[in-house]
Amino acid sequence: MWARKRLDIDGLDLACGLGAALTCRQSERQAIQEQLERWWLGSSPGVAVACLSVRSGFDLLLQALQLPALSEVAVSALTIPDMVRIVRYHGLTPVPVDLDPATLAPEPAFLERAITPSTRLVVVAHLFGTRAPLEPVLEKARRCGALVVEDCAQAYAPGFTGHPEADVSCFSFGSIKRATALGGALLRVRDPALAERMRLLQAGYPLQSRSAYARRLLKYAGLKALESRPAFAALVATCKLLGADPDRLLNQAVKGFAGGELFPRLRQQPCTALLALLARRLRRYTPARMAAQVECGETLLRLLRERCPGVTVPGSAAPYRSHWVMPVLAEHRQALIAALAAAGFDATSGSSMCVADAPDGQPALAATTTRQVFERLVYLPCYPAMSEAALVRMTAVLTAQQGSMER
Ligand SMILES: *Cc1c(COP(=O)(O)O)cnc(C)c1O
Repeated sequence: MWARKRLDIDGLDLACGLGAALTCRQSERQAIQEQLERWWLGSSPGVAVACLSVRSGFDLLLQALQLPALSEVAVSALTIPDMVRIVRYHGLTPVPVDLDPATLAPEPAFLERAITPSTRLVVVAHLFGTRAPLEPVLEKARRCGALVVEDCAQAYAPGFTGHPEADVSCFSFGSIKRATALGGALLRVRDPALAERMRLLQAGYPLQSRSAYARRLLKYAGLKALESRPAFAALVATCKLLGADPDRLLNQAVKGFAGGELFPRLRQQPCTALLALLARRLRRYTPARMAAQVECGETLLRLLRERCPGVTVPGSAAPYRSHWVMPVLAEHRQALIAALAAAGFDATSGSSMCVADAPDGQPALAATTTRQVFERLVYLPCYPAMSEAALVRMTAVLTAQQGSMER
């Protein structure tokens, strides 16, 4: 059984993280953070700020901006629920921006409607490894005096620090993200004064517990061990025997911050070990490592186009694709997932994402196209360990299932 996803971290990185958790000193933290920020920023404009997570950084940004109550924040309609929750928590009104399923970029006509003079902030998510062209958003936002935040949580690439004109670009290194350090985020903030306010606010936070971080590293070492084909097959068989649902179990296991209140968990400074592991990961993350994933995704995309022309791959028409994940749309998701499982491929429809609701009383702003996409998403396994022969076999299942995929 090919597992749905491989965590983008090796045993040696996990061991180094544990080593850092045991030996790193609090006194080294400042220096490690500054070095990491300076190295990652390179010659890009602005200031880098390392945070515990993208959500922590976004919450810091909203605290620092102090926008007037009920200001509107336009957000890519497909995002993670916490980003929308954070907007609401600050007394602001999220307004979804519907997406073009072919490119996953904001739909131009919808962008025109969603950004108004009440909009203070526009948050564009680069989804599934694509990069949405930011120029139309920047142009429209500038005319209304709104800031543009680029959510690059799903779009890390070595050397990419976001669009140079974006006001804030956020990169996540949470557990399922590319080049993960099992947490951590880097934000590039164009306005140094704004970055300084965020830094000061963050300096007042308690420090992430390093024993909690060490436990996290151990848990993921366990999950990592389940990724090989035989181990994953054994996991699925055991779950069957015990009457447990492996899909739910896995989706629960990789949840970023499980349980408890959101804001106290977000409002912490990253511990020294997290910063040290993140620095190690980014310095060693080669373009070749990423190219292998891109190539695997492009191979599958080519096979799907040739052999299942009726199948829709959201984002496949985007000008830039790095295939962080590989979704297809299916009308009957469970039938497709069952057929793939029978052939040895663990696809899933479970995801940590959601579609942002239209503001109360404004049904015309509902992101209906994005919702239709969201309700049909199935994520296929697709990573360099899979041979082309395996991708061909998976494509054959999709060809046989075309009837359950089309509308
Ligand atoms: C993962 C993700 C986030 C949150 O990243 P954290 O670092 O876990 O807070 C935000 N937006 C999108 C689109 C994501 O995929």
